Amino acid sequence: MEESATIAMSRKSRELIAEGKDVISLSLGEPDFNTPDFIKEAAQKAMDENYTFYTPVPGYQDLREAISTKFKRDNNLDYSPDQIVVSTGAKQSIANVVLSVINKGDEVIIPAPYWVSYLEVVKVAEGTPVIVNAGIDNDFKLSGKELEEAITPKTKLIMFSTPCNPTGSVYSKEELADLARVLEKHPNIVVIADEIYEHINFRSKHESLAQFEAIKNQVVTVNGVSKAWAMTGWRLGYIGANKEIAAACTKMQGQFTSATCSITQKAAIAAMEADPAVLKDMIAAFESRRELVLNALNEIEGVKANVPEGAFYVFPDVSYFYGKSYNGRTIKNCNDLAMYLLDEALVALVTGEAFGDPNCIRISYATSEEILTEAMRRIREALEKLSE
Ligand code: PMP
Ligand code: GLU
Repeated sequence: MEESATIAMSRKSRELIAEGKDVISLSLGEPDFNTPDFIKEAAQKAMDENYTFYTPVPGYQDLREAISTKFKRDNNLDYSPDQIVVSTGAKQSIANVVLSVINKGDEVIIPAPYWVSYLEVVKVAEGTPVIVNAGIDNDFKLSGKELEEAITPKTKLIMFSTPCNPTGSVYSKEELADLARVLEKHPNIVVIADEIYEHINFRSKHESLAQFEAIKNQVVTVNGVSKAWAMTGWRLGYIGANKEIAAACTKMQGQFTSATCSITQKAAIAAMEADPAVLKDMIAAFESRRELVLNALNEIEGVKANVPEGAFYVFPDVSYFYGKSYNGRTIKNCNDLAMYLLDEALVALVTGEAFGDPNCIRISYATSEEILTEAMRRIREALEKLSE
C-alpha cells in the first residue's frame, strides 16, 4: 500500500513552511472555514453532560435517527437507523465496506480519476482493482456502457464519488440512471456511492445513486461532516446500506475503533438537524474561487481544464509541459511537474498519478481568493519558464 498522496503532499508543505519557506499549499482537500458555532456549542454541551464514555459501535441511536432524517430530507432515501453506521470519517466508512465485502481476488471497478484512498484500501483487502478511464473529453464520468464492459463474473464492488474528488464532476440523474440500468442486471455487485461533497454542488440539486429502487439494496451511500460542515478534524463519516453490510461494518469497527468520538457524535446531531440552506454563503465562496482558478488557468498556454461542477478541486491536463525544461530540469511527467511547482513556484499541488490520471495535477481551491490569486500567479510564472 502507498502512503496517501494527499496527506504526503500536505506533510511536505508543512515541513517546508516550518523551515521558513513561503509555501502555499493547495494540496489538501480541506475547507478553510471554521466549524460553525452551533456545532461547537453542541460539543461543549455534550462534554458538560458527560457524553464522554464508549458509545454504541455504529453510533448513538439519536445520531443515527438524525442521519436517517437527513437522508430522507436531503436525498429522499429511506435508511432506518439500523442501516446506518457512523465511523471515524468517511475514510473509515469506505474502508469498513471494502474490508467487509471484498475477498482475495474479487474485482473492484474504480473509474479513474478516483480519490487516492480507493485504490489503496482495495489493495489492503487483497481485491483486484479494475481501473476504467473516464477521460477529460467525457467530463471524467463513467457511462453505463463503459461500466458494463468492465464487469466480469468476478466483479464484486464499484466505487466512485459524485461530486468527484479530484475532478469536481457531478453525475446528473440521467447519468446515474444509465449506471443503474446496468447494475440492475447484476444484483450481487455492491456500489459505494461516495457523496461526501453532496452540498458543494454549483450545478443543481444533488442526485443519489440509491434513489433507483431496483438497485437501492446494492448501494452503500457514504457521506460525512468533514466537507460541508468544515469538520475535518472531528472525524465523523457514515454509511446508509442494506442491513447485512451495515452489520458487517459494525462488526469490523467493533474490532478496529469501537466507534468514533462521543463528543463528535453529539456535535454531528446539530449538523444533521441544521438546514443545509445555511451553507449558501460557503458554497458561493467556493464557486467564486473556482472562477478565479479557471480564469487563471485559461490564461496559461497549454493548460486544459474541465469546468468542475462541484467539490473544491480543479484537475487540469498539464501534459503539454512534459518534455519541456527550465534551468537544466526536464519535466517528464506529472510527478516531476508537481515537484517543479513546489520548488520553483512554492505551491504544493497533488500529482494526477495518485488519482489515476498521469496527464493531470489536482489543485484544491479551498482557500482564500487572496492566496489563490498569488498561487495562480506563481504557477503561471513557473510554467511559462518551461521551454523545449
Ligand atoms: N471521500 C472523498 C471523495 C474525499 O475526498 C474524502 C476526503 N476527506 C473522504 C472520502 C474522507 O473524508 P473524511 O474521512 O474526512 O470524512
Ligand atoms: N480528502 C481530502 C483530499 O483528497 C483530504 C485528504 C485525505 O483525506 O486524504 O485531499
